[in-house]
Amino acid sequence: MTVRTRFAPSPTGYLHLGGARTALFNWLLARQTGGQFVLRVEDTDRERSTDESVQAILDGMDWLQLDYDEGPFFQTKRYDLYKGVIDQLVEGGHAYRCYCSKERLDEMRETARREKRKPRYDGTCRDRTEPVAGVEPVLRFKTPLEGTVVIDDLVKGKIEIDNAELDDLVICRSDGNPTYNLSVVADDIDMGITHVVRGDDHINNTPRQIHIFNALGAALPKFAHLPMILGDDGKRMSKRHGAVSVMQYQQEGILPEALLNYLARLGWSHGDQELFSIDELKALFSLDSCQRSGSVFDNTKLLWVNQQHLSNLSEAELGAQLQTELEKLNIDTANGPQPGLLAGILRERAQTVKDMAAQSEIFYIDEVELDAKAAQKQLRPVCLPVLQAVQAELQQEEKWHSANLKQRLDNVAQALEVGFGKIGQPLRVAITGGNASPDIADTLEMIGKPRSIARVGKAIEYVEQRSAGSE
Ligand code: GLU
Repeated sequence: MTVRTRFAPSPTGYLHLGGARTALFNWLLARQTGGQFVLRVEDTDRERSTDESVQAILDGMDWLQLDYDEGPFFQTKRYDLYKGVIDQLVEGGHAYRCYCSKERLDEMRETARREKRKPRYDGTCRDRTEPVAGVEPVLRFKTPLEGTVVIDDLVKGKIEIDNAELDDLVICRSDGNPTYNLSVVADDIDMGITHVVRGDDHINNTPRQIHIFNALGAALPKFAHLPMILGDDGKRMSKRHGAVSVMQYQQEGILPEALLNYLARLGWSHGDQELFSIDELKALFSLDSCQRSGSVFDNTKLLWVNQQHLSNLSEAELGAQLQTELEKLNIDTANGPQPGLLAGILRERAQTVKDMAAQSEIFYIDEVELDAKAAQKQLRPVCLPVLQAVQAELQQEEKWHSANLKQRLDNVAQALEVGFGKIGQPLRVAITGGNASPDIADTLEMIGKPRSIARVGKAIEYVEQRSAGSE
């Protein structure tokens, strides 16, 4: 059997984290078995579906590199198929016309609510043989009155539901439009879907869909319902928790493979391993190892996962990413080190490429502004001989490489009989303007000789003025 999975988003918003995880799991199942992954846009809710949302979903899939073998299909273009399926259900005696007015149905619902019962259609039109003049009927599915329906869920286990709990659901509205459960089943059959993997917010629909599959004489796909992703308050993750679109993570400098890694771990595990390449996910993923209950989204952990993936990128890949981020900040990389080289020294210190870009600016400008506090603390009058010795020593260096520069600084430390700390910290403030930077010799190499010498010169001036002021 060839595995065929699908991702079936409704285009009423962005591609959010839960949707992306559903897409990922379906994609992994297909890719790990040489099966196919189908993208189906469920746009039958015309009022809430928008073209922008379709585009946002496609962009999100694209950024995450979740490629599909078929689609995107659009349900609004497939009404002929649904009409055929509806006719088939009517002809088979599985559906009936219902003429009940909205008022009657509202009343039924209200009574159920008062009596604390589940609202349920009372079956008035089930055995009606004559039409009601002037009323366009809806079509309802004839749910078996007795017995049970069983979902053999690959994640949640066996779930059994009494048919008496289920409604005679509407499958076709009075305007001829199919409803959600009908179009989903019609499509899943038509597209030969073997595994329906989706969020467990759909679990109530599954028994209804199973009845429709059965009524049509179609083989059932396997079902797997994934637990929701939760916010830190234990409630279902939503906009309130700041999660809008996966593209927001792109803007924040998260790598697609890191987001996928993290999303995979939200709901699935392989021992206590946290970091996975996409190939590893393909090899190891299984629905059996998905957990049954929801997991909490943790941004700190996502950043950590991202940092780990950053450190696995080659210099060229990371350089390309950094270049893109620097362009967004209008930083001209012609004025400084190659982004790939710079990324090599920054990668341990940045959780995202965006962080890295923010730390990069000092490498591309001529002069840095001294942070007042850092300068106050580190560039004190006693530093003057240190800075002067450093400047003289650096002037002599012809091969501006980290190892040589480190040697030069060691020479100063020895000559002045001071510890390296007495040199490194003032020099760091002089060179970067602040207290934090990668290894100082690496930093000097990236800043380049002329700018390094000039910046030490500026720091010397600062210290001299300060000494003069305090005399
Ligand atoms: N269109 C539904 C949604 O966006 C998914 C339906 C399904 O996967 O069966 O939630």
